[in-house]
Amino acid sequence: MMEKIIMYRPKLETMSREELLEYQLELFRKQMAYVYERTPFYRRKFDDAGVRPEQIKTLEDVSRVPFTVKDELRQSQEKHPPYGDFHCISPDDGVRVFQTTGTTGVPVRSLLSKKDWLEVYCEQFMYFMYGYGITKADTIFIPFNYGLYLAWWGIHSSFEQGGVLVIPGGGQSSEDRIKNILEWKPTVVCGTPTYILFLGDTAKKMGVDLSKTTVRIVITAGEPGAQVPATKKQIETTWGAKNYDDIGSTEISNFGFECVAQQGTHVVESMFLAEVVDPATGRPLGAGQEGELILTNLCCESMPLIRWRMGDIVKFDVKRCDCGRTFLRLEGGIIGRADDMFQFGGVNIFPSAIENFVRETKGFSNEYQVIAPRMGSGKHLKVRVEPASASLSKEEMEQAVKTFKEVFKFRIGVTPDVEVVKMGELPRFEGKAKRVIREK
Ligand SMILES: [Zn+2]
Repeated sequence: MMEKIIMYRPKLETMSREELLEYQLELFRKQMAYVYERTPFYRRKFDDAGVRPEQIKTLEDVSRVPFTVKDELRQSQEKHPPYGDFHCISPDDGVRVFQTTGTTGVPVRSLLSKKDWLEVYCEQFMYFMYGYGITKADTIFIPFNYGLYLAWWGIHSSFEQGGVLVIPGGGQSSEDRIKNILEWKPTVVCGTPTYILFLGDTAKKMGVDLSKTTVRIVITAGEPGAQVPATKKQIETTWGAKNYDDIGSTEISNFGFECVAQQGTHVVESMFLAEVVDPATGRPLGAGQEGELILTNLCCESMPLIRWRMGDIVKFDVKRCDCGRTFLRLEGGIIGRADDMFQFGGVNIFPSAIENFVRETKGFSNEYQVIAPRMGSGKHLKVRVEPASASLSKEEMEQAVKTFKEVFKFRIGVTPDVEVVKMGELPRFEGKAKRVIREK
């Protein structure tokens, strides 16, 4: 059953697409002029590309503006430490700093003004809070080791301003977190899908049935989990709660939430301009076409990113959602990372698709690893899995492997080799999981 629909800015969230695009164009032009004026970084980029803010007359013109990529931010910070030359505020005006996890190289730092941290970010997260159907009557438990990553800081700070009672769950073991959930009785919990499922296993070992607790909503971010049907189902069954997606990154901040209709992840289009382009050519694609997500911060003042290349693969759905919002939806959330996608047997494969099959298969644990052989090596794609429990018989495992292979072949068109390893042998991740190994 769908939960009650509430909206933070109903007028903006339900305006026609035409009005919305007009609204975005106006903000884009302003933001482009603002960064051109304020940062050597963007002045250089726009001058090199021969494009000036006043030349942007329509949203089609936006494709003339160069992309911003992570390496440029890194290089800028190396040359102009510690924040680079892409910030629009002076270091004295910063009240909060964040840093990316650095899983793909040197971390990037971002400095935020008081207005951005307390007002603009709060505004963004209010769309999420209302979108999930959370009100001031709710209590959220945040099982997160508070550090330099933006991750759950935004939800902590903003939901607090929105009147939600926040219980910080940092610096605790997973067992203690389960005990705290029982004791404090939160109605909302958040985490990466992998960690949320890990907490489920921990509770089980402690003899605790999480589906009987007060938790009614689980917010997940950092991995596509909430939009991988089998993972979502498992989270919802384990916790006896609704699972909603939250998308963002430290550089661009959080821009996507799943509403109670659970039909894809909405982009907060009143604050972000979202585009989808062909990852190879950079050319714009239309709704319904799979491509790379490009985002522009339309509202913040500290370090607005213009045409930020996310590296995430998405598909837009611009039809009005059952919740009544006209904000576009990412069908299936983030489908995958452009750099995680691999080709095998002439098809593009995303780890999230494999994750879905693993978690749908009765008899397998949640963990898996994919070994992608070099093209032309003649080897099969290999998936490593673990049994879900030690009590499964040899026949039961053989049946599970057979079913998995059939589903894989039917949906992806390739038959993988499946290796069943011992329980607990595959690596566990508390943060972003890295599951694909490419053979050189
Ligand atoms: Zn919706």
